[in-house]
Amino acid sequence: MVSEPEQPVSLQDERLQLMMPRIELNAQVNAEQLASEVADILEGLFPARDGAIALHEPEFSERAEATVLECIRSTFVSSVGAFVSEFEVRLAEQCDVAHAVAMVNGTAALEVALRVAGVEANTEVLLPSLTFVATPNAVSHLNAVPHFVDINEETLGIDSAALRQHLNQVGESKAGQFFNRETGRLISAIVPVHVFGHPVAMDELIEVADSFGIAVIEDAAEALGSQYKGRQCAAMGLLGAMSFNGNKIITTGGGGAVLTNNADLADMARHLSTTAKRPHPWAFEHDRVGYNYRMPNINAALGVSQLQELSDRIARKRVLAMAYIDGFAGHPDLRIVREPEHTVSNYWLNTLLLEPHAAASRDVIVQALNDAGFMARPVWEPMHTLDIYADAPRALLPNTESLAERIINLPSSAKLAELLP
Ligand SMILES: *Cc1c(COP(=O)(O)O)cnc(C)c1O
Repeated sequence: MVSEPEQPVSLQDERLQLMMPRIELNAQVNAEQLASEVADILEGLFPARDGAIALHEPEFSERAEATVLECIRSTFVSSVGAFVSEFEVRLAEQCDVAHAVAMVNGTAALEVALRVAGVEANTEVLLPSLTFVATPNAVSHLNAVPHFVDINEETLGIDSAALRQHLNQVGESKAGQFFNRETGRLISAIVPVHVFGHPVAMDELIEVADSFGIAVIEDAAEALGSQYKGRQCAAMGLLGAMSFNGNKIITTGGGGAVLTNNADLADMARHLSTTAKRPHPWAFEHDRVGYNYRMPNINAALGVSQLQELSDRIARKRVLAMAYIDGFAGHPDLRIVREPEHTVSNYWLNTLLLEPHAAASRDVIVQALNDAGFMARPVWEPMHTLDIYADAPRALLPNTESLAERIINLPSSAKLAELLP
């Protein structure tokens, strides 16, 4: 007789097990059948739809048109103007931070945030592999190196327990700084990404970051208005970055912002992104190699009107998310990802998560949904699988690899709430 070992399995063993081929628990999953079931559930949710439904569409009110027209008539359409200042004040208020600095896009905002946080060339920045390519690109633009860490199935964001274990394994402290022992490089920052608007478990993450002396910069590009334990996303780290691209919850056409409670860092971000020009009524004096990254006034005009609609938009997106959650409730092969514990999500993109035994059906489902007029898509290819980041240092990524094969994003525009029966 073979008896089971009594001693607890170590975390390391569990992670290795996760990397082993999965046993097919339910061999009867028929991809075609599952795909038509999913399409039927969406048909049931949007019976009155008129034509194909996009993944995420921007929404503009008459007030948006009036505000942009006012900006054009003022002739102040480029960098720095009254709408930029107004947008920054309202955005800082919304995000519950002291300072907002508006930028041309979220990637630029992230780059500037990392730079003012002290990320230098040849240092490493920890970030999830399951993110949009802008996150590692912002690191690379500073000639720093992305270092990919694993995520958690509940939040889809960085898993703090796995992170701590990884850092203990590969890193060492020297004179109050933390280094990757394998590459010799300083670890200069960590970037949690609030994927699809769902907040990362920030208390745990900040605790790990603090214990290793690593600065936290939030990629909150998808998470405007999302909250963790009553705190706004982008307000919990040393700095946060937002995006107002056309596909985000509110848009300025293209745009982004750096958010922080630190006045010196905000000043530095503002200065660097406006060509590092010293204030003077006419002289052109630049004391650093700066950027031209500030948000134009015409974009900020759009942003001012969009921000006024944010709370209504989040309310409608939450109604839509609840309808998806109910629509798929109790299904044995898949579920809708819910906001993690202690959080309020803006549900920027609704996410259908296949159980591991149904992962092989993903592409058939995506195809069936698109054929039926529901724009759906898989999540990004994990960054460590792209050629450009194949050589980047990384932790074991079992959850990333599993989740990347099981996610399908569903149509998520707020106005879809009005189509529900
Ligand atoms: C959109 C996005 C960005 C970049 O924003 P842009 O405005 O497109 O440059 C960065 N990170 C994440 C997670 C995003 O979704």
